Amino acid sequence: MTEGIQRGEFGLIGYPVGHSLSPAIFQGAFREAGIEARYTVLPVSPSRLKKTVSALFARPVGGINVTVPHKTAIIPLLDGLETSALDVGAVNTVAVHGGISTGYNTDLTGFENSLTSLGVPELSGRSVLVLGAGGAARAVVVSVARKGAARVLIANRTHSKAVDLARSLAPRFPGVRLIPIPSDADNLARYLAGISLCVQATSLGLRPEDPLPVEPSLIPAGCYVYDLVYGPDDTAFVRKAATLGLTASDGREMLLRQAAGAFEIWFGREAPVAAMRESLDRAIRSGASGCSGGVPGA
Ligand code: NAP
Repeated sequence: MTEGIQRGEFGLIGYPVGHSLSPAIFQGAFREAGIEARYTVLPVSPSRLKKTVSALFARPVGGINVTVPHKTAIIPLLDGLETSALDVGAVNTVAVHGGISTGYNTDLTGFENSLTSLGVPELSGRSVLVLGAGGAARAVVVSVARKGAARVLIANRTHSKAVDLARSLAPRFPGVRLIPIPSDADNLARYLAGISLCVQATSLGLRPEDPLPVEPSLIPAGCYVYDLVYGPDDTAFVRKAATLGLTASDGREMLLRQAAGAFEIWFGREAPVAAMRESLDRAIRSGASGCSGGVPGA
């Protein structure tokens, strides 16, 4: 069952995980850092999660990344959670030291660090629009709230989930207005004046035939557009936003930074980000993953 990730080794569990970019990113990091280790992808169905995790921790492995659908389900199987995982209520990285397993959320820190490396303007006192209310959206809302945004608008296809997300985080961020808003174009438009950042955190764009998550012409001039989806080329949302003169990026930088965060947790030293970026770009160019079939966030 655990043939894929050996004692002291690293890897990703999820279901499915067939076309993950993580092996390319981490092998690039290990090579650059002179670390002799392997990073392996291990598909684990939900019904086998508990048994697989206990076998992996018994070896023990050096560390694992966790992706959909296990980011929440793994929590009760861990000995402890670090603040980032507590903040988001989900785990995407586990470190095992002295037999103790600890869960982290480097999607949160990865998103935060990517804002800096992409040059997204300061969010303090600003308004942010978040499209989506799933795991990635939750990390984004926590992140922009921590960065001092004054108002976070949350638009999701299933409105009740946007309401739940806003309600669950409101007590932690009393100074931030977390506002669930309608996601249909007619109503959404009424809320968008003055937003500084629009984060696209739905699954739309993973498939070429997907509609745009929001019509970019509704987004005000000067707003930074950040689509968490990534692929071999810019997403349709990023392309359309850019043609309208908006500054826009896809999700590669977040992907890279969440991997760098995991590296730093596992090895206690700075991640070789340039080498990791080079490996990621090469893997994307060669079609190792992408909009269709890629593993979200891993
Ligand atoms: P998730 O928890 O499954 O949430 C999916 C979200 O997408 C929900 O808000 C869902 O709305 C919405 N959605 C799905 N299909 C839709 C449709 N046809 N129309 C409108 N909305 C739709 O997934 P997640 O982990 O948050 O990931 C969301 C996206 O972020 C994925 O595309 C993933 O690739 C990306 N991501 C990127 C990174 C990175 O490092 N770049 C990291 C994490 C995630 P409902 O609630 O209505 O179902």
